[in-house]
Amino acid sequence: ALTISEECINCDVCEPQCPNDAIYMGPEIYIIEPDKCTECVGHHDEPQCMVVCPVDCISPHPEWNETPEQLMQKFIELQKRK
Ligand code: SF4
Ligand code: SF4
Repeated sequence: ALTISEECINCDVCEPQCPNDAIYMGPEIYIIEPDKCTECVGHHDEPQCMVVCPVDCISPHPEWNETPEQLMQKFIELQKRK
């Protein structure tokens, strides 16, 4: 999963780009729900939120390191929930 740092300027550009609806406005800045973030595996070649963020404040979550296989498995599980 990816995470958003405090440098977020709340521009709201990333939220509509997320294919998993994993991004939402938190108390102060935007937040990525790690359970829902597949790093865009299954949907796109690269993380769409990172591509559009104007201040580069999105990066891999230090405590949510997942292999491509795990991310694909998460994608499959999320599809089942839809
Ligand atoms: Fe959503 Fe993809 Fe960003 Fe994860 S990497 S929060 S799935 S847009
Ligand atoms: Fe924050 Fe970047 Fe998302 Fe804008 S695109 S809301 S700066 S994380």
